[in-house]
Amino acid sequence: MTTLIMTDFVPADIDASKWENLQPYYQQLLDRKFKCSGCIKQFLLDRSELDAAAGESGSNLYIAMTCNTEDEAAKAAFLSFVEEVEPELKRVGFELNKKVVQCEHVRDLDEDRFGVLIRDWTADVEIFREENVPLQTEDTKLGQEYAELCGAMMVDFDGEERTIPQMGVYQQDQDRSVREASWRCVAERRLKDRDAIDGIFDKMVANRNQTAKNANFAEYRGYMFDVKHRFDYTPEDCVAFHDAIEVACMPIVRKLAEERKAALGVETLRPWDLAVDPNGHAPLKPFDSADDLIEKTSKLFQRMDTSLGDMFDSMQDGGYSLDLASRKGKAPGGYQASRDRQRKPFIFMNAAGLPRDLDTMVHEAGHAFHYMLCRHDDLVWYRGAPLEFAEVASMSMESIAYPFLDEFYSPDEIKRAIRKHLEGIVSTLPWVATIDAFQHWIYLNPEHTRQERTAQWLELQERFGGGVDWSGLDAENESVWHRQLHPFEVPFYYVEYGIAQLGALQMWLKYRENPEAAIEAYKNGLTLGASKPLPELFEAAGLQFDFTINMVSTLMNTVEEELDKHA
Ligand SMILES: [Zn+2]
Repeated sequence: MTTLIMTDFVPADIDASKWENLQPYYQQLLDRKFKCSGCIKQFLLDRSELDAAAGESGSNLYIAMTCNTEDEAAKAAFLSFVEEVEPELKRVGFELNKKVVQCEHVRDLDEDRFGVLIRDWTADVEIFREENVPLQTEDTKLGQEYAELCGAMMVDFDGEERTIPQMGVYQQDQDRSVREASWRCVAERRLKDRDAIDGIFDKMVANRNQTAKNANFAEYRGYMFDVKHRFDYTPEDCVAFHDAIEVACMPIVRKLAEERKAALGVETLRPWDLAVDPNGHAPLKPFDSADDLIEKTSKLFQRMDTSLGDMFDSMQDGGYSLDLASRKGKAPGGYQASRDRQRKPFIFMNAAGLPRDLDTMVHEAGHAFHYMLCRHDDLVWYRGAPLEFAEVASMSMESIAYPFLDEFYSPDEIKRAIRKHLEGIVSTLPWVATIDAFQHWIYLNPEHTRQERTAQWLELQERFGGGVDWSGLDAENESVWHRQLHPFEVPFYYVEYGIAQLGALQMWLKYRENPEAAIEAYKNGLTLGASKPLPELFEAAGLQFDFTINMVSTLMNTVEEELDKHA
């Protein structure tokens, strides 16, 4: 096991899951005097190691809990970390950021090396207001209320009580009446909480407007751009991106809807006609077991590039870095986490043999490559990247993997898998635009009524809805956005996926022209971690940080050609 500890400030065996063990070291950092920029540099190295130890503890506790949700002790340990350690880390972290950015010697630090870090910390310190702390707690609580309402939704269907996620499987059913009945059953259940959810959202909007005002921002959107460290693009760039998506994607979306309608032999496409295979095929089955998935994925990456293959294989270390199999007691979903002290990645998922599982595997492997390529950085804050680029690392792998899908599928099946993936890209971008544009409108119109909000939503559905017939389903159509957790729980977080997708598509085009050069550029970009601003990260990966109409159109033309080839 490699450990790359750059400082002996933090003992190797510290139990960083307890605040009382961390506190004396953070206190030492708070008390430190800076005589020159060299002192700051040493401080950053020491703090990085301490933050890494605390972060790794949190990661380990989270991993233990999600791997076995029935282990009460693991759950209690994680919750105690969240409740007792994380708030302290947040508080002391802010004090330490302030200490650094307000020190006169900070100007002597090398801009090229420390510029991004100091830029981000300066913004955090500038927008912080003591009176916003309770408002943010309130926002988190409202988010939990929303999550609880959604999580408690159950329906009786097909003789059993089922959760909403469990109902998803009926949307694949070839029998249209089953799809419609299950869709209506879920929609009816959701509508019961429509008022309650709108009520929660009203409170959130008022709370967020006040937060922005307290920090001297005219509106919450501008405030959130600073919170999210979006210094390399503006709200106006996002608005132009929405327009570009409308122009470049919607004709393809409408064409795909027509093709789907014809294949299904229906007069209009209803909301329950969107997930089923239109040609009557049974779902694909790319692998049998988690071991099978690992073996085939290893071959896929070895053929793509031996160094990426070796990185993937290094994660086959007896279950320490990969927990892929679906089993009783495991939390749902998939994620990649890092253990920052040992500098090891971890991939969690619930592989059940579905195509979605294969997509998740390749996607999360991209995140793990990113971590392994930048984990050499002394500064823990640079081991990772902003989402706009982090998702380029993962999404690129999904498309670059096309030529190697024969590890999992027959030639006919490959065609189907690629088409499905491309259709997903074309339909996701308009949804990104919808959710992002909706949030822009909400906070630029802070005094809006529910009726005005609904009208705005319907206007966006009109622009980005793409050929679905909602007649007789007005209430359902008006509240579709209630399903999307982001506006509730993580406001303004969504456009990143669209920006990253454009990077990933560029990477795919480069790969088709020159595979070796593309993989080199990919690794080159990932190696920088978060140490450079977004445009430089894209550039290092041979990509343009560009989401204007020209770029979106060029990429969508290629996607459309490719869709036709895989018809
Ligand atoms: Zn991801």
